[in-house]
Amino acid sequence: MRVEFLGGVRTVTGSATLLEKGSLKWLVDCGMFQGGKDLEGRNRSIRHYYPEDLSFILLTHAHIDHSGLIPKLFKEGFHGKVICTKATLDLCEVMLKDSGHIQEMEAEWRSRKGKRAGGEGATPLYTVKDAERSLQYFQTIGYNEVLQITDGVKVRFQDAGHILGSAMIEIWVEEEGEEKKIVFSGDLGNFDQPIVRDPSLIEEGDVLWLESTYGNRLHKSREETVQELLKIIQEALRDQAKVIIPAFAVERTQDIIFTVGQLIRKGRIPSIPVYIDSPLAISATEIFKRNPDCFDEETNALLLGGENPLERPEIIYTRTTEESKAINEDSRPGMIISASGMCDSGRIQHHLKHHLWREASHIVMIGYQAEGTVGRRIVDGAKTVRLFGEEIAVKAHIHTLGGFSAHADQKGLLEWLSHFNNPRLEVFVNHGEEKTSMGLGQLIREQFHFRASVPQWKETRFLFGPEKEIVPETAEIENFAQEERVEKVSAPGERLSALFRDLDRNYKRLRRKSKKERSRGKAFPDSRWLKQLEEINEKLEKLESEL
Ligand SMILES: [Zn+2]
Ligand SMILES: [Zn+2]
Repeated sequence: MRVEFLGGVRTVTGSATLLEKGSLKWLVDCGMFQGGKDLEGRNRSIRHYYPEDLSFILLTHAHIDHSGLIPKLFKEGFHGKVICTKATLDLCEVMLKDSGHIQEMEAEWRSRKGKRAGGEGATPLYTVKDAERSLQYFQTIGYNEVLQITDGVKVRFQDAGHILGSAMIEIWVEEEGEEKKIVFSGDLGNFDQPIVRDPSLIEEGDVLWLESTYGNRLHKSREETVQELLKIIQEALRDQAKVIIPAFAVERTQDIIFTVGQLIRKGRIPSIPVYIDSPLAISATEIFKRNPDCFDEETNALLLGGENPLERPEIIYTRTTEESKAINEDSRPGMIISASGMCDSGRIQHHLKHHLWREASHIVMIGYQAEGTVGRRIVDGAKTVRLFGEEIAVKAHIHTLGGFSAHADQKGLLEWLSHFNNPRLEVFVNHGEEKTSMGLGQLIREQFHFRASVPQWKETRFLFGPEKEIVPETAEIENFAQEERVEKVSAPGERLSALFRDLDRNYKRLRRKSKKERSRGKAFPDSRWLKQLEEINEKLEKLESEL
């Protein structure tokens, strides 16, 4: 079977993979490229996606870097089904229309500029109408439900714990009478993220696509991150200043609403105005409220107790432009949460224009900032950034809080991967910047001895053929220094608690495995393992007595 890597390889955006089995062609994800002219140029010519010949699309989740080109595909002749979870469809209804609107506005702006220069008008990638039309072809699937799509191809969606409705996808294909299993991790969430459930664990697979957004980072724990946010808010309160948070409309915004609500509820900060200034985020929050079946236990417990964590008197949702503008007249200290998350468009740009130059203001980056975006320039320490044709000085406090990320960090990714029990697993590392994906690939080869590689854009591979030794791209790897694998060196205290968490997880995993093996009637652990465990236990006891 043939696969072609059409996006989300050596970059975080544009996720799309073409799979081809005989005459059957389908895509997993069909995302938009974002971050700079070169990448975005790829959105225009998508003939190589074979829109007319595709049978269906499997969609992991609603984020535009996974779903954003679907309306364009329909415009160019695709007429199959898009299969996703119900919450993903609900979110796509607002997100794809919003994306169509942005495309129309941008084309209009380019047209005006082009015509002034004596040139031609510009056409949008797709319109709101195109987006609406494409939504009619979406078909929903429940988590854990096995769907036989056609002879020899069945799929199952499992919770990826990344955003509402997000899924990892398992695909079983029959190849010459033998069943093989392909797994797409999708964007993989964190284990202690609020609202959504934890990522599912998968043990079986022959080929895996593994995301690597934070493949070179270790996040701080959630608790530490909340402490940091608390300190930032307290400082802003002291200085009568504002905290500005650029946030992705889906999940990050709701996560922050949830967290700030908890801080107020517990009396750790006073009741301050918290503006949610993004129509898309407001619509997304409504969708969250409509899909409680996707919530984790903690959120469900709050709901049962009669409290909706996404509704509090301090939270002010501003939908209209007038309401949005009025925020600037509110001189009280408070918070403004707005999109887009990478500061490339949307109302957040207005708030940045008002606050970046103010020394007392705090800008808190909580999501991934892709190369080439305004957000990345701010994080990288630019002295000025250009907004609305004006150079704005960056004088505000800039913070990056990785612990609010909706993506697993290096440890989380490796831990999730460790559950696979096929020693011959082939791993394609995707959805990460080139160096990050390469580094993670190397770690996977070293730690698990899986065949791991980082495909190129538009590269073709054949799966399940005679086994070939994957030759790592040595020249590229030589430049990859050890210390780059983990960019953030953590403090000893932090490392200790991370180690404890790790120990805890490993211990639970071992117990699970041993239980499973025993239920299968196998002797586990065997004497060798038992001896090793005893040694470890002795060391731990010794450590404890020394402490
Ligand atoms: Zn995502
Ligand atoms: Zn993504």
